[in-house]
Amino acid sequence: MSAERIDGKKISQDIKDEVKVEVAELNARGIYPCLAVVLVGDDPASHVYVRNKIKACEYTGIKSVSINLPADTEENELLERVQELNADPSVHGILVQLPLPPQIDEDKVINAIDPDKDVDGFSPISVGRLSIGLPGFKSCTPAGIIELIRRSGVSIDGKNCVIVGRSNIVGKPMAMLLLRENGTVTVCHSHTKNLREITRQADILVAAIGKPEFFTACDIKDGAVVIDVGMDRDENGKLCGDVDFESASQKASYITPVPGGVGPMTIAMLMKNCVEAATR
Ligand code: NAP
Repeated sequence: MSAERIDGKKISQDIKDEVKVEVAELNARGIYPCLAVVLVGDDPASHVYVRNKIKACEYTGIKSVSINLPADTEENELLERVQELNADPSVHGILVQLPLPPQIDEDKVINAIDPDKDVDGFSPISVGRLSIGLPGFKSCTPAGIIELIRRSGVSIDGKNCVIVGRSNIVGKPMAMLLLRENGTVTVCHSHTKNLREITRQADILVAAIGKPEFFTACDIKDGAVVIDVGMDRDENGKLCGDVDFESASQKASYITPVPGGVGPMTIAMLMKNCVEAATR
């Protein structure tokens, strides 16, 4: 068998095009969705992420406000800026780019964002809402994965879903979202015994551990849907995922490549969350 490749580039483009239409409709009603992006310091990777988010705003017609603060910004100063954005009715979404410099407590900052503007879906209130099934913002990467699965025509209902990785930004919210779709969910991590036996039972496998090509065909059930969240570097410094794409493709029914799978979905879902914030 050779798996069908799930094209995250195309699906994310479709979502951005849908968002563009929704933004135009909101504009016609006098609503101008606006995302505030706060960047502290000079981390080059963060600058690239922020630039890409702003580019996506420009494409979809979402207004963006960039707030760039120096690396030595005090925690209180940042918290004040967040409060100002919370109070500003023209700002619908607030994103504070992580990581933050060491003098700033990230949890405190995330907690300070108004949950109704928390378009990253990272705040404890957003996570709590998600776990008890209340409307709220869903963390963008796992929400993007649900879209990838759905738009490939795969039903999650009743499927054995195995997630490897339990981070707050991927593994845990992924578990909540798959559960919401009536999947039977197992979450594995570095203390899991017989990991590879468990992954071999998965109808849907989500690999999110950050270890280059850790999973191969032997770890995958025939016909499984394989979602590779990893953004790793192989021994030659080439970007790769947590799954060995070539071998896994021989067994899976659907598989996401790296790059071009899960990666592009995160920003597309961020745009979707911004529209949702403005619509509310
Ligand atoms: P993380 O915070 O480092 O968490 C990694 C998780 O994997 C932890 O729960 C860890 O278990 C588990 N783990 C590590 N080694 C393992 C092993 N050998 N066996 C079983 N479990 C193991 O990472 P993350 O932020 O979730 O990111 C995971 C990967 O996804 C990274 O490659 C990252 O770059 C990528 N990522 C991609 C996107 C995207 O948009 N495509 C977004 C976010 C992250 P413990 O909890 O026991 O330590």
